[in-house]
Amino acid sequence: MIPLNFEYYRPETLADTVDIFDKLDAEGKQPMYYGGGTEIISMGRMSNLTTGALIDLKEIADCKVLEYQQEQLVIGSSVTLTQIHETNLFPLLSQAGARIADHTIQNKITLGGNLCGTIIYKETVLPLLLSDSQVFIAGPGGQRTVPINSVFKERMQLGKGEFVAQIKVDKKYVSCPYVHVKQTKQDKITYPLVSICTMAVSGGIRAAFSGVCGFPFRSIAMEEELNDRSRSMEQRIDKAIDLTPGPILADLEGSMEYRKFIIKGLLNSIINQLEE
Ligand SMILES: Cc1cc2nc3c(=O)[nH]c(=O)nc-3n(C[C@H](O)[C@H](O)[C@H](O)COP(=O)(O)OP(=O)(O)OC[C@H]3O[C@@H](n4cnc5c(N)ncnc54)[C@H](O)[C@@H]3O)c2cc1C
Repeated sequence: MIPLNFEYYRPETLADTVDIFDKLDAEGKQPMYYGGGTEIISMGRMSNLTTGALIDLKEIADCKVLEYQQEQLVIGSSVTLTQIHETNLFPLLSQAGARIADHTIQNKITLGGNLCGTIIYKETVLPLLLSDSQVFIAGPGGQRTVPINSVFKERMQLGKGEFVAQIKVDKKYVSCPYVHVKQTKQDKITYPLVSICTMAVSGGIRAAFSGVCGFPFRSIAMEEELNDRSRSMEQRIDKAIDLTPGPILADLEGSMEYRKFIIKGLLNSIINQLEE
């Protein structure tokens, strides 16, 4: 049960969505966008949700797209992890999504919800950071398309009333060689101890991480160390790990030292695979 009354809206166009947000906001209803609802419903059940209105994005035509448009793969923000996996148009993204929660929940979780939710892992952002994806954002100030590597800084940096409508990925990236690994403490279906997505692009390795710091990230400085073949593999990995953009997590999933040990082992195996 959700112990909270709220209004529910399901617009079909970007313009209507923004108008509804503006109207509800002016009425003081603290509107929230709704994707798959897995996080919103959990928060509602725990009385951690403060809103007078939910705006469901699932019927907006632009947010349901999943297709190639010229040289770009366009993925609407309401597309579910299951749809991404079944169409398999971007195999690295399919695999990252297929290791989030279980099949039933993957039928609900949307790409936009995973990218914009409050939980720190957001594992679907990793392939998007590696492929220099573009984010199409709509909001009261209009529409903008921006590189994910500039708008995703620890989390999606959205203005008031803005929402992610689409992700656009250049075709050249979707078939690049890749390795995805997710290591958990024990069960297969749970939050990551460490999750790493890597991609080989133009002879170099790109790497993005979740579960390592308090936010998902791709670090160019770490990639430079990982790609420095003048050093031994151990030195490359040690130097890269020294450059994580925040403290390495120490929590119930694992201590900082244990995480470092796992990252070293995983990177060693991944780099060997990609360089072969
Ligand atoms: C059992 C379980 C295990 C999980 N394990 C993992 C895991 O290991 N790794 C991982 O990364 N995730 C995991 N998740 C998923 C994650 O924690 C969120 O539940 C999920 O990503 C939210 O997606 P949703 O579409 O249901 O979003 P919703 O619940 O609909 O929304 C979540 C938030 O995002 C906002 N939002 C939604 N769509 C948009 C949009 N298009 N633009 C702007 N804001 C938007 C909403 O306003 C809300 O604040 C797990 C979830 C569950 C239930």
